[in-house]
Amino acid sequence: MLSKLDKVIDRCRAEGLRRTKALEELLATLLENNRPMTLAEMAESPRLTNQCDKATVFRLIQRLTDKAILRRLGLHERAAYFALLLPGEHRDYLICTNCGSIESVNAPCPVYELEKEIQFTTGYKNLYHELEFFGTCPACSI
Ligand SMILES: [Zn+2]
Ligand SMILES: [Zn+2]
Repeated sequence: MLSKLDKVIDRCRAEGLRRTKALEELLATLLENNRPMTLAEMAESPRLTNQCDKATVFRLIQRLTDKAILRRLGLHERAAYFALLLPGEHRDYLICTNCGSIESVNAPCPVYELEKEIQFTTGYKNLYHELEFFGTCPACSI
């Protein structure tokens, strides 16, 4: 039985990425934290801070996002978060337009049925969606 990390690394290799220590540590960091992270958070995390510099982490993130292994979330480059796209583990997100904080929506996906219907009526395969809700978080509303 392959671990989650091995599975993601297999997907990376299928996309032509080289298996490096930095890649392994980056993916392990995201899996362990199990939430969207910013570039700075990843670069400064214990696994990566001694492994490679921020520029290397940035380049890795760009490649992983291009290959749809990471999903980019958030309002703009400065406040961007990155989350692993894992098959069968879909999440929708809630983002504060004031402070940029992000959390996953604690409810079943609201467009799950719609997605199934679209897949059925159009014949599209491997359908997915990216849903982000924007607003002002409770801490910013005070
Ligand atoms: Zn906020
Ligand atoms: Zn959804």
